[in-house]
Amino acid sequence: MNISTAGVIGAGTMGNGIAQTLAMHGIEVRLCDISEDALTRALTTIRHSLSRMAQKGLQAESGIDEILARIHGSTDLDSLRSAQIVIEAASENLAVKEQIFHQLDAIVSPQTLLASNTSSISLTRIASWVSHPGRVIGMHFMNPVPLMQLVEVIRARQSSDASCAAVMELSRALGKTPVEVKDGAGFVSNRILMPMINEAAFTVYEGIASAADVDTVMKLGMNHPIGPLALADLIGLDTCLAIMDILHTEFRDSKYRACPLLVQLVAAGQLGRKSGHGFYPY
Ligand code: NAD
Repeated sequence: MNISTAGVIGAGTMGNGIAQTLAMHGIEVRLCDISEDALTRALTTIRHSLSRMAQKGLQAESGIDEILARIHGSTDLDSLRSAQIVIEAASENLAVKEQIFHQLDAIVSPQTLLASNTSSISLTRIASWVSHPGRVIGMHFMNPVPLMQLVEVIRARQSSDASCAAVMELSRALGKTPVEVKDGAGFVSNRILMPMINEAAFTVYEGIASAADVDTVMKLGMNHPIGPLALADLIGLDTCLAIMDILHTEFRDSKYRACPLLVQLVAAGQLGRKSGHGFYPY
C-alpha cells in the first residue's frame, strides 16, 4: 500500500514528531488537535527540529519549507476524511481515545487504516470501538520520533494481516525498524521501561538517592544513554503515570502501583520538560 496522505490526531510531544517524520518522507499530513495553541506550538516545534537537523547535516536547509507545507493543521476531525491512514496520538486517556475512535468510525472510509500510538492501552479494546476492527493496529513510535529507530507494531486480536503488513511497510518507508508484537498492556517497551522508571522514582521517594545520582548509576553503571528520571521528564510524567495506572488496572498486580512521588509531581503540574519542571528543572 503506497501511503501519500496521512492523518495525525494530537499535536503534542508525539503527534508533532510523527507529523514531521511523515512529511519528511513526502507524505501529506492532516494534523488534528482540539487545541489551536497545540497546533501552533507543534508547527513551531517542527520548524525548530528541522533546523536543528539541518545544522547536524541530517536535513537539507532548502527542503524545510517544502516539508512544512505538507503539514496542514485543523481542529476539525473532518479534515481527516481523505487520509489513507490515521495515526492517533492524543492524550493517554481511555475515554478520550474511545471518543476519538467512535468519531473516526463515522468520518473515514472502512478502508482507512486506523493506527494508535498508545503506549499501553490494549489495541484489542481500541479495535472493539470501530465497525471494521481488522484495520486497527498499534503503531508505537518512540520519542523523539524523527530520531528514534524503533516502531513497535502491535496486533490487536482483530487486526488483519493486510493492516499489519501495511504499517510494517510504512514504518520501513519512514526509515524505521518495525518490530511486531502481540497485544498485552504496555506491549514490550513499556511493560519493561515503566516499572524501571517507577522504581527509580521510589528510590528518590524513599530518600535512597537523589534523582541525579539515580540517573548517574544507571548511565555509568548500566550503560544507559539517559537516566530513567531524565527519560521520564522527556516522556512526560503525566504520560508515565497514566501508563503505570493502565498496567496496574490491566494486570491487577500491586507490583505496578504508581510511586506516590510521581502522583504528587503530576498533581503539582510538574510534568517534565513540557511544563518546565519534573524530576529536574528546565
Ligand atoms: P501530549 O500531552 O504531549 O499531547 C497530547 C495532545 O492530544 C495534546 O495536544 C491534546 O490537546 C491532544 N488531544 C487531547 N484530546 C484530544 C482530542 N479529543 N482530539 C484531538 N486531540 C486531542 O501527549 P504525548 O506525549 O504526545 O502522547 C500522545 C500519545 O502517544 C499517548 O497515547 C502516549 O501514551 C503516546 N506515547 C507517548 C510517548 C512519549 O514519550 N511522550 C512515547 C510513545 C507513545
